Amino acid sequence: MGWLIYRIAAAVLAMLAGGWVGAVVGRSTDAPIMSVLVGGAVGIAALVTWDGLRGQALMEWLRGAQDADAPRSAGFWGELAYRAERSVRLLERSVAQEQTRLSQFLSAIEASPNGVLLLDAGDHIEWCNSVAADHFGLDPLRDRRQRVTNLVRAPAFVSHLQSGQWGEAVVVPAPRGKGLLSVLIRAYGDEQKLVLSLDVTEREQSDAMKRDFVANVSHEIRTPLTVLAGYIETMSQVPLTEVERRRALGLMGQQAARMQTLVNDLLTLATLEGSPRPSPDRWVSVARLFAQAEADATALSQGRHRISFTGDDAAQLAGSESELASAIANLVNNAVRYTQVDGQVDVTWGLLPDGGGEISVSDTGIGIAREHLPRLAERFYRVDGSRSRDTGGTGLGLSIVKHVVQRHGGELDIQSEPGKGSNFRLLFPAARVRYLEPAPDPRHPTIAAS
Ligand code: ADP
Repeated sequence: MGWLIYRIAAAVLAMLAGGWVGAVVGRSTDAPIMSVLVGGAVGIAALVTWDGLRGQALMEWLRGAQDADAPRSAGFWGELAYRAERSVRLLERSVAQEQTRLSQFLSAIEASPNGVLLLDAGDHIEWCNSVAADHFGLDPLRDRRQRVTNLVRAPAFVSHLQSGQWGEAVVVPAPRGKGLLSVLIRAYGDEQKLVLSLDVTEREQSDAMKRDFVANVSHEIRTPLTVLAGYIETMSQVPLTEVERRRALGLMGQQAARMQTLVNDLLTLATLEGSPRPSPDRWVSVARLFAQAEADATALSQGRHRISFTGDDAAQLAGSESELASAIANLVNNAVRYTQVDGQVDVTWGLLPDGGGEISVSDTGIGIAREHLPRLAERFYRVDGSRSRDTGGTGLGLSIVKHVVQRHGGELDIQSEPGKGSNFRLLFPAARVRYLEPAPDPRHPTIAAS
């Protein structure tokens, strides 16, 4: 209210001053009263004009960007300018603070390992982080304001978004066949939607592998079990001659042994997967490993193959003796099983140019077609299922071999040609190879068949 009194007082003063000037000027005229009135009116007009100019200056500042200071003056207009400027500066400061908070918030969402997509009521993209952009094949800037279903066309995603039933996450194929995404939608605000995405390709693959594994194990066990159950039923219902009884027991024994081998291989795999890497400073003699494998191979072949082992008494490998023995046994066992009578099986030790070592098992057997090679070490993968089973195979041997060599920091190399033979090499890094006497000159590994 104070400013109003000052304004009225200023107007009265301007009017009195104008009136006084009018009275002085009009003293010598015929109309002194008129002169006083005109003087008063001129005084008020001068005050209004001066006010107008100061108001105009403030108005121009308010209409502009308000970067410069507000026009400074005393009195009513000065205070008005000061208060207007203070409000503007407070507003600017709080907008800046909000913007900082918003960008911090968006940076936090940007750092999320999940994809985050914000959609408006019409399913237009309001914002997305780079993970969501990668998952859905979007461009965070270019695709803003675009309807998401025009860009992400996977039917499973579109129908889930349009269903409005968003209780659970759904798994949808990622665009451009880049795996699988788990998508969770939540409503917020004014019919807006928050879409969270997670790459579940590996998880789904591992689930599928587990399902396959259980199905394979069940399948492998079912056949011998069916045979056993059949014989048990026959023997309990039909009186058998001594010869028949012996034959039945022999076949039952074979099936039981098959299941035992399978269970042993499964346990070996489980142990390999669940135990720490073999120690790098426990040394195993290659010659000893070869001696053990040679005895097994000779027993398996029973003189039907020519088998040669060329080790090196001074060579040693760092790792687990039982695992290495099992890997070599599996390879030698395969070489004998997949090589015809009178075929050749050679097992050699060699030093690689980089100081690593290799155990090579080559045969002149049936060989393997090129397309099977990449999958050979998968669990239960067989080129010829019936030959594998007839010779007592479980389909897990090479899987065990690959695990063992990888746990020793090495790799399994397979070269083969149908009808000519195969060469399986276990390649070990230099850190796991040592010689008790000066090492021989490294030779380049030989390949029996390629
Ligand atoms: P299996 O118990 O069936 O032998 P493996 O995992 O040891 O299982 O081998 C997988 C498949 O690789 C075999 O079924 C066989 O078809 C093929 N294979 C392995 N070793 C040889 C080899 N030396 N010669 C030919 N084929 C082989």
